[in-house]
Amino acid sequence: MEPAVISDYKEPAPLAKEDPLTSMMRRFDVAAHLLNLEPGVYEYLKTPVKQIVVSVPIAMDNGEIKVFEGYRVIHNDILGPSKGGIRYAPDVTLDEMKALAAWMTWKCAVMNIPFGGAKGGVRCDPSKLTPLQLEKITRRYTANLLEILGPERDVPAPDMNTNEQIMAWIMDTYSMHMKRTETAVVTGKPLILGGSLGRKEATGRGCMIVTLAAMERLGMKPKDTTVVVQGFGNVGAVAARLLWEQGCKVIGISDISGGYHNKKGIDLDKAAEWTARNRTLAGFPGGEPVTNEQLLELACDVLVPAAKEDQITRTNAGKINAKIICEGANGPTSAMADPILQERGILVIPDILANAGGVTVSYFEWVQDRVGYFWSLERVNRRLEKMMKSAFTAVYETANRYDVSLRIGAYILAIDKVAATLKLRGIYG
Ligand code: NAD
Repeated sequence: MEPAVISDYKEPAPLAKEDPLTSMMRRFDVAAHLLNLEPGVYEYLKTPVKQIVVSVPIAMDNGEIKVFEGYRVIHNDILGPSKGGIRYAPDVTLDEMKALAAWMTWKCAVMNIPFGGAKGGVRCDPSKLTPLQLEKITRRYTANLLEILGPERDVPAPDMNTNEQIMAWIMDTYSMHMKRTETAVVTGKPLILGGSLGRKEATGRGCMIVTLAAMERLGMKPKDTTVVVQGFGNVGAVAARLLWEQGCKVIGISDISGGYHNKKGIDLDKAAEWTARNRTLAGFPGGEPVTNEQLLELACDVLVPAAKEDQITRTNAGKINAKIICEGANGPTSAMADPILQERGILVIPDILANAGGVTVSYFEWVQDRVGYFWSLERVNRRLEKMMKSAFTAVYETANRYDVSLRIGAYILAIDKVAATLKLRGIYG
C-alpha cells in the first residue's frame, strides 16, 4: 500500500486489487485528507496497536495433534476497551483482521460508544470440526489471549461461524483463570449467562432503522418500497423480516446456495419456516431461482448486502439497480465501486453505520453485566433506535457539510473523534 503523506495527497490511482484492507485504507486516506490530519496522527491511526498471532494446538479425537493459527488485532483502544468479533473460517488472514479491527474502531466512534476496535479469528473450517474440537480450539485460543482480554481491556463478540455457545466457552475459560465469574469479558452470550435481550436481532434491527431514516430523507414510503436482501443469516434474515413488517415489499432473498426473486413479494414467514426446517434456502418455493450475482442486480429500491465482503465491486457496480444500499455485511462494497455508485446517485448507508446495531447492543450487554441489572427488550430496542437515528443524522450532516458520500462522512466523523481524543490524551513516551 502507498504510504500516503497527507500534505502531498494526490487523487488516488485506481487500485490494483479489491480487498477489505485496501478498501478500508483507501477510504481512510480520503477522509484523513479532507480532515487535514497531521501526518503523525495519520500514522498513529492507520497502525494497529497490537497484532497477536497465536498457535492453537488441540488433540483431535484419535489423539493426533493438530495446530491451528489464531489472531487478535487491536486496532485502537483510545476511546476505551477494544471491541470486536471472533471469526472461525478457513480463509481468515491477519490482513483481513486488520481491516475488520479498524472498521470496529470507526464503527464505535460513529456510534458514540466508549470502545476501541479489535477483531480476532482462528483459521479453521468449522464445518469439518466436531463440537468438542470447536470447544478445545475456543478454550486454547482464549487461554493464549489471557493477557489481552478483559472487561476493561478487550471484549470479543461473535462473528462469522461463532455463536453464543462459543462466547460461553470464552467466558468460562477466562473466568476459570481469574478465579471468579466475569461475564463482561465477552458479549453475544446466552441470556442465562448475562446476555442481553435483543442482541441477536440487533444488527438487522439497526439496518431497518437506518434504512427507514434514509428513505425518509429521500421521501420514500415503506408501502411503495421494494427490497432485495443478500444473505439470510443473523443480519439478512432479521433485516428482511423487519423491513417487511414495516410494510416494504421484499422481492429478493438469498443465501450461499442461491437466491429467489418474486415481484409480488416474498412471504418472510414462509422463508423463515423453510430455513428453520431445511437449514438453507435451497429449493424455497416462494420465488424464481436466481444466482447471487443476478440477485444483486435486480431492480429494487433498497438493496441490503448482508452476506460477506466484496460483493459489489467495479465489475458489477454499474449494474446495481437500487436507490439505497444498506450495508448489513462488513465491507460488502469495494473502494473501487464507491465512485461508480456515487456517480449513479445511489445512496449507500456504509457498513460502519448500517450494521452498528450489533456492537451497540453488545455495549448494552457489557453495561448490564457490569451493573448486574438487566433491561427489558423494550428498553434495549428503544435505546438502540435512539442511538442509530442520532448516528444516522450525524453522518448525514457531516457528509453534507463536506459534500461527500455518507461513507466518507462516516469516516470523517469517526477519525475526527478518535484524533481529537488522541490530542487530549497525548502521546505517552
Ligand atoms: P451468518 O453466518 O448468520 O449469515 C451469513 C449468510 O450469508 C448466510 O445466509 C449464508 O448462507 C450467506 N452467504 C454466505 N456466503 C454467501 C455468498 N457468497 N453469497 C450469498 N450469500 C452468502 O452471518 P451474519 O452474522 O448474518 O453476518 C453477515 C455479515 O454481517 C458479515 O459480513 C458479518 O461480519 C456482518 N456483521 C454481522 C454482525 C452480527 O451481529 N451478526 C454485526 C455486524 C456485521
